[in-house]
Amino acid sequence: MPRPISASVSVSALAHNLAAVRRHLDAAAHEAGTAAPSIWAVIKANAYGHGIERAVAGFSAAQGLAMLDPAEAVRCREAGWGGPILMLEGFFDAADIELFDRYHLTTVIHHREQLDLLESRRPARRLDAYLKVDTGMGRLGFPEAGYREAYARARYLREAGVLGTLGKMTHFATADGPQGIAQALARFERAAAGLPGPVSLCNSAATLRFPLAGAGAGQAAWVRPGICLYGASPFEDVPAQAYGLLPAMTLRSEIIATRRLRPGDAVGYGSLFRAPEAMRVGVVACGYADGYPRHAGTGTPVAVGGVPTRVLGRISMDMLVVDLQPAPHAGVGTPVVLWGEDGPSVDEVARAAGTIGYELLCAVAPRVPFEPSGRNQGEPQ
Ligand SMILES: *Cc1c(COP(=O)(O)O)cnc(C)c1O
Repeated sequence: MPRPISASVSVSALAHNLAAVRRHLDAAAHEAGTAAPSIWAVIKANAYGHGIERAVAGFSAAQGLAMLDPAEAVRCREAGWGGPILMLEGFFDAADIELFDRYHLTTVIHHREQLDLLESRRPARRLDAYLKVDTGMGRLGFPEAGYREAYARARYLREAGVLGTLGKMTHFATADGPQGIAQALARFERAAAGLPGPVSLCNSAATLRFPLAGAGAGQAAWVRPGICLYGASPFEDVPAQAYGLLPAMTLRSEIIATRRLRPGDAVGYGSLFRAPEAMRVGVVACGYADGYPRHAGTGTPVAVGGVPTRVLGRISMDMLVVDLQPAPHAGVGTPVVLWGEDGPSVDEVARAAGTIGYELLCAVAPRVPFEPSGRNQGEPQ
């Protein structure tokens, strides 16, 4: 028997979450009397650890897909995705321009070197592009002061037949927090005022809080939600269920041993947990080498045989220990849900470990087998 750990992805939960975001956008647009934004479903980092092919199946109703690894874009085409693909970091060198051309990828242009490359190497077809403003992330994009000059160069490339659609975009640094997007949006609007073309501004947090940012004014808008489509929350203080989202990934294992502790007996490296009274504990086949966060300490939520309980002591490389007091019938072979359906949310586990759900979803280790997304996992039929 293989080691009992596995992960599964519900393709129908992915589709459900996309539909929930769609309804959220439609309702806001209806109320404002404006056209609803289109959705680029963000599937970078192997679809936040869920698998590119599963994401292509789950997000088939999206208007576009967004990612940044050219190899993942090719996988989308090979999986049959014929719609737009937005490459969030653009092309990295001249050879990529040919690949973008061949697979019909839409590029982000965030740096002057990319404009230089386009001026010296002409793709066979017009390349669709979004020109990015840095509105406070301090990472990719032209600064507000340099944006109009960059746009003028891009417009010239368009007139020369090199570029096709020319859109405008930015990425918000504080959409999930108290600062919100007001300052960044003001910067974007100053930089892009009067320049034609579609706009793309909102990540998950902005899509959920400010669904119409950048919409209206007679220009097409595209949002770029990622994490919420996987059923996790972009916010520290609002759970994904508050938006009707379902967890797409479930990480499961089993109890492989049990122990009866006497008062004062310790558990795990460093003896960080000591039993305050006689108690039964279970050893679970899941550790940090599987991608479970080592910093999740005593009290991290976990479900054993469907019953909520807690992790005890330090996480080992291959194992962790759970409190069996709330699950007296659990024994060797009892199923354990580390996060996902019928267990704690990935966000709750992440919070206990001082990180965010994004990191845990992306970091499930290659040694963890993913169950085929068969009918019982909700593959569309
Ligand atoms: C990752 C990313 C997104 C999606 O962010 P979420 O917080 O997962 O919604 C959107 N836009 C860009 C440029 C990104 O890098």
